Amino acid sequence: MAIGRKEDLEQARAQHLADEQDVMVTVLSDRQLLIPGFVDTHIHAPQYPNCGLGYDKPLLEWLQAYTYKLERKYRDLEYSRKVFNAVVRRTLNHGTTTACYFASLFQDASLILVDAVLKYGQRAFIGKINMTTLAPDDYVETPEETIKLTRKFIESVRSKDCELVEPIVTPRFALSLEMDSMIELGQLVKEYNVNVQTHISENTDEVKQVNSKYGLPYANVYDKAGLLTPKTVLAHGIYLTDEELSLLSQRGSSVSHCPDSNTCLKSGMCDVRRLFSFGIKVGLGTDVSGGASPSIVSAMRSALATSINLSFGQKNYKPLNYLDVFYLATLGGAEALSLEHKIGNFEVGKEFDALIVDMGVENGNTDLLLDCTPLELLQKFIYTGDDRNIAKVFVAGKSVK
Ligand SMILES: [Zn+2]
Repeated sequence: MAIGRKEDLEQARAQHLADEQDVMVTVLSDRQLLIPGFVDTHIHAPQYPNCGLGYDKPLLEWLQAYTYKLERKYRDLEYSRKVFNAVVRRTLNHGTTTACYFASLFQDASLILVDAVLKYGQRAFIGKINMTTLAPDDYVETPEETIKLTRKFIESVRSKDCELVEPIVTPRFALSLEMDSMIELGQLVKEYNVNVQTHISENTDEVKQVNSKYGLPYANVYDKAGLLTPKTVLAHGIYLTDEELSLLSQRGSSVSHCPDSNTCLKSGMCDVRRLFSFGIKVGLGTDVSGGASPSIVSAMRSALATSINLSFGQKNYKPLNYLDVFYLATLGGAEALSLEHKIGNFEVGKEFDALIVDMGVENGNTDLLLDCTPLELLQKFIYTGDDRNIAKVFVAGKSVK
């Protein structure tokens, strides 16, 4: 509604809140900060029970050995409800005001995630997964089903008529579908004007298999299907070539950087500076459960570590600093999801998705905070804070923690 100096509070109140009774004023202490809510641009809700497990295998084996086994359980709607309620509560507690979720292959389970998000008041994109091949026989759909059910899912989510939740088209990755199905999904994207999320260039074996299946560079596979749009977010993007990055830049598609997952699954190190040099929008993703933590603060730290590791042996390479990763976690994430007109920072007219961070709560170094500037508090929070330091969470002005 308005942003100004403390001295001008009374004037602003008279101007904007003249008709409001009982307006509550919150004055932050010198150990508290008000910051924009975090955006998790890539998280798999059904994989939450596997957090911290199964990191002895690389991506393609990990999917078969651990992930599909767990994801098949979401035929059980009671189990789905239990897990999805827990995921939404937990991510909100960690300050994730917006999440871009891979839901289930199953439509009913995916709608339960929609209900959980609506119940707890998180802002979210939710996608029913499309997968017709390269998974167990009882955990794939036919090409006809996958399109029909996606259309139904988009319409069901839109019929909830809630501004906070949007459907998103979610082909799992280029090896999970045939080109014909991806082209049909590309047509749905146009028809309904929906966002798109998928994976790209996460692992060297995966990249090789995609290249040999389609005879094309990875990014060109999605482009051929009409899936690279300005509202497309691609997870990982570690091994993209310069030509592929130019293509993403031309299409306005973005990358979700998931450094924790890239380390846990030994996939590689994504160079965010290189993505920026091509003008690509970048946000952060926890990639639960490829990543072990549902916390974006943890993702910020992993992004710092990856960038610093990339700088070793490279002359003149400037690793990301705490302000860079704070940007990725907030406005960068909003841009990656094409929500920068609504969220990501505090500008008059945007939605109030915000966190009150309190570095005065017990964290072992309270006494050292006495002389911290706000920027120093933010730096301490990024390097040492956790969900206990997130005192309040607001989504669209409503308190949800
Ligand atoms: Zn993922």
